[in-house]
Amino acid sequence: MQPTQSTPSTANDSWTAADSASLYRLSSWSRGHFQAGAKGNLLVSPSGDDRPPLDLQHLLGEVQRRGVQTPILFRFDGILRASLKHLVDAFDRAREEFGFTAPYRPIYPIKVNQERLVVETLLECGRSAGLGLEVGSKAELLAALSLIGEEETLLVCNGYKDRDTLEMAMLSADLGARPIIVVERAAELPLLLDCARRLGRRPHIGLRVRLTGCGAGRWKHSAGDRSKFGLTSAETVTVLRQLEAAGYLDCLELLHFHIGSQITQIRSIKNALAEATRTLLDLRRMGAPIRYFDVGGGLGIDYDGTRTDGDSSRNYSTQEYANDVVYHVLEACRAAGQEEPIILSESGRALTAHHSVLVTEVVGTSSSAPRLSPCLPTAGEEAVIESLADTCERIGTISLQESYHDLVALRDRAGHMFELGQLTLIERARADEFYWHGCHHIRRRLAEEGSTPDELVDLEHNLADIYYLNLSFFQSIPDAWAIDQAFPIMPVTRLNERPSVQTILADLTCDSDGMVKHFVQQGTRRSLALHRPRTIEPYHVAFFLVGAYQEILGDLHNLFGDTNIVHVDQDQAGRPRLASILPEESVGTVLSYVEFDQRSLLARLRSRAEESISMGRLSPEDSADLLRRGKRILRGSTYFQHSPSESPTPSTKPSHEHTTGL
Ligand SMILES: *Cc1c(COP(=O)(O)O)cnc(C)c1O
Repeated sequence: MQPTQSTPSTANDSWTAADSASLYRLSSWSRGHFQAGAKGNLLVSPSGDDRPPLDLQHLLGEVQRRGVQTPILFRFDGILRASLKHLVDAFDRAREEFGFTAPYRPIYPIKVNQERLVVETLLECGRSAGLGLEVGSKAELLAALSLIGEEETLLVCNGYKDRDTLEMAMLSADLGARPIIVVERAAELPLLLDCARRLGRRPHIGLRVRLTGCGAGRWKHSAGDRSKFGLTSAETVTVLRQLEAAGYLDCLELLHFHIGSQITQIRSIKNALAEATRTLLDLRRMGAPIRYFDVGGGLGIDYDGTRTDGDSSRNYSTQEYANDVVYHVLEACRAAGQEEPIILSESGRALTAHHSVLVTEVVGTSSSAPRLSPCLPTAGEEAVIESLADTCERIGTISLQESYHDLVALRDRAGHMFELGQLTLIERARADEFYWHGCHHIRRRLAEEGSTPDELVDLEHNLADIYYLNLSFFQSIPDAWAIDQAFPIMPVTRLNERPSVQTILADLTCDSDGMVKHFVQQGTRRSLALHRPRTIEPYHVAFFLVGAYQEILGDLHNLFGDTNIVHVDQDQAGRPRLASILPEESVGTVLSYVEFDQRSLLARLRSRAEESISMGRLSPEDSADLLRRGKRILRGSTYFQHSPSESPTPSTKPSHEHTTGL
């Protein structure tokens, strides 16, 4: 038996914003940046200081007054700065506690979010901490080079590197970077040395080692014997000897490992550190003057707020992570009487996940519950319908489980009879009405009883309403679809009102996979409690922790493009400042990605129209109207737009439509 989260719609009961905060586990994933305001609106504290928080619904209103429509991705620059501070402070505390005197420097791996404004903000606020960048491709290298400032910026170059990449990386030293070229495969070394000789440079070289102790979590295959990158111990020794023979051993400055992203267990990190610090000591003993110890990425985010080693969580804190890194390095160096290296970490997810919030509205709902109780059977109606009505009648007088079994069996029988031509479509619809009516009745009873037999837990999920949202999951939160990652999702308003509807969420794509089915919620995670939208106002829902990987992995499935993006900062008085508003991709833009040129598309519409005019199917005036529409759509949003006369949230149509998955 387990408690249910069923919330019968008892309006005006004593539900408070604090109840919403606990239902959506707000305090366990928000890092203090998001709160449920007592008046029911969601509040955002970008900087985490004592400036008054921003009201997300008001902010949305401000943006909409400027003509910017949902879906909107808000980027809170203050949260980006606070995330960097959170990481750097943790390492500073650890260094102080253990007496580690060498510096720690954060490296931002730009693949996590390459948006220029994000990288610029991090570089700017990371200056005092000596923030560097990590790049994994030619394009990322150029992007990084265009952003580095006057002070020497560490530039860690990973990935497959051709001659152009290697030479550009080496020459970037002339622009003020400190490029470190990481050898990830033994075969890379000859080309690297050749470039160095040709350019007459002494490059800064790093080695990425492949650790044999496997990671844990979804990316555990990033480490271990068969991982994609990294040198085995035999290769490490060979590369070191080759560097020595070529006279470049003094260029070997960095040791790097990366055991995968979203490491869920601290144990994996401890194992990796034990192995990597041993390698550090021995490489130095062999004459490599290694100054930088780069622990890679992997610092996890507690997306679902459970603090477990589940895939969407982590069983450790940022402080524990920093403590472990600093402690292991310090102990190893002390025991061996070696100098402390500068510690680098390439934590990308941890720096960016919190700062982006996607807001959109519900555009429609669909419920399996019949609007009204079905009319009682009349004399002469089919026996199976009478039995279903009878079973509904007896709910509560016998065990709920037994009633449920009866309903399922009778509905099956009705289905067979329909196939055999013994029931008409109308009769079958009647049977279904009773079935759904009965199931919803059972669910209400279960909620009142407060406990649910295991068999009926699925009922909650199967009876959930579908809420259709104005967005594409493929474009905006691809990991929810691709790897079933949970993201916190909450209403933006009405948090002081009991959310009485269990829902699953669907997007605008026509793909049946465009649904979110894993939620961050107290109790059941297979459906999400939301409010019934009112017809008079839009019902806004926010997706949190979407700042890492989601934007760049997002795709154009069904040709839904980038959403509007708004950078929000706060002035000293706490007022919001809309630092920049980046317009969404128009229909014309996304069409051009698949080789539909706007002008020739319109020209083709025009010639089709001319043919129709000559065949007398279309008047010249109507052809003008048609082309005007075409042009307007090309310029406009790829997302659902409410026409001025429409109410923002179409009310639920009386629907006997059945939820998918049944
Ligand atoms: C992807 C990647 C990172 C970032 O990992 P996070 O888990 O986002 O911190 C860091 N370093 C390398 C080499 C990577 O490939």
